[in-house]
Amino acid sequence: MPNKPELLTVAKLAPFLMQPLQQSFTVHDRLHENAAESAAFAAAAPRIRAICGSGESKVSAELIARLPALEVISIMGVGYDGVDVAAAKSRGVMVGHTPDVLNDDVADLALALMLNIARRIPQAERHVRAGKWPEGPMPLARKMSGARLGIVGMGRIGQAIAQRALAFGMTVAYTARSAKPALPFAFHATPRELAAASDFLVVITPGGAATRKLIDAEVLRALGPEGYLINVARGSVVDETALIEALRSGGIAGAGLDVFENEPQVPEALRTLDNVVVVPHIGSATVQTRHAMAARALANLQAHFARQPLPSAVPECR
Ligand code: NAP
Repeated sequence: MPNKPELLTVAKLAPFLMQPLQQSFTVHDRLHENAAESAAFAAAAPRIRAICGSGESKVSAELIARLPALEVISIMGVGYDGVDVAAAKSRGVMVGHTPDVLNDDVADLALALMLNIARRIPQAERHVRAGKWPEGPMPLARKMSGARLGIVGMGRIGQAIAQRALAFGMTVAYTARSAKPALPFAFHATPRELAAASDFLVVITPGGAATRKLIDAEVLRALGPEGYLINVARGSVVDETALIEALRSGGIAGAGLDVFENEPQVPEALRTLDNVVVVPHIGSATVQTRHAMAARALANLQAHFARQPLPSAVPECR
C-alpha cells in the first residue's frame, strides 16, 4: 500500500505488536542497527515518521536528528529513560508510553523477589533437586510477613506494591520526590532515612539521570546486615559495585534483582553469590500484560496518525 506511514522499530517487538504495525505502517525493522544496511537506512530515514520500541530501547538525540520527518515515538513500556525526550520535544516529536497496565505484574514480581530472597526458595529448590535433603534440612530463613517495607518511588507501581504488602501484615513507608499526604504511609525525605527504617527496601523509581545511583553505599549501610534490597526499577538506580561489595561483606543480608546496569550482562558476582536472587528483567513479562502494553503502544500511534492527542503521552509531552 503506497500511503502507509513509515515506521522504524528500535527493539525486537513481539509478533502481536509487529503484525498490527505492519498492517498500518511500512515497518523498517531495526534498520538503523545494521551496519550492512546503512545505505538502506540512509535512503529510508527522510521518510520515517514514527518510532516504536520497548522500555529498554535507546532513542538518542543523534537518531532523532537523522529522522527529519519524525513525528512520534511510541514506547511499549512505562519507563522511557532510553529516549532523549528533550531532543524529541525540541523537534515537536511526541512520546508515548504504556503506564498502568503493568502495575500488577511488576508489583507481583517485587513481592515474589521479596519472598524468594527472604525464604531462600531458589536455594531450597536447588537443595531438593541436588538430592541433598536426606543430608539435612536447610538453614532457617527470614520471616517476611510483618516486616518493615520501605518503597523508594511511591507512584503507580509503588502503590500496587504497598497494597500487596499490607496483605502480608507489613508496615509500609516510602520516599519519593514529594510526600503524598493522602496515603496512609510514613514518608521519609531520603532513601538513606527510609533504608534505616526498613527490613526490605524496594526500588521502583524511573531510571535516567535524576535517579542514577540513588541507592549508593551509604543507603546500603543504612539498610544494614539484616536488610534486603529489591530492585525492579532500572539497573542505573543502584550503584552495582557498592551493592556487590555490600553483599560480599555482609553489609546487607541479600538482594532480589530484576534489573541490572548493563543488561543483558550480569556481573559474575551477582550470578554466583548465594544471597542474591536474579531474574532477567521480567517485571511485565506475562502474556496478558504484554498484550495490554502492545495495545496501548499501538493506540498511541493510531491516535497520532488520526490527528488525535496520544492517549498516554509521557508527562513531558502532555
Ligand atoms: P510513576 O507512577 O511515575 O512513579 C514513579 C515514582 O518515583 C514517583 O513516586 C516519583 O516521585 C518517584 N521518583 C521519581 N524520581 C525520583 C527521585 N529522583 N527520587 C525519589 N523518587 C523519585 O512510575 P511507575 O509507573 O510506578 O513506574 C516506575 C518505574 O518502574 C518506571 O519508570 C520503570 O523504570 C520501572 N519499571 C520496571 C519494570 C520492570 O520490568 N522491572 C516494569 C515497569 C516499570 P513523585 O511521586 O514524588 O513524583
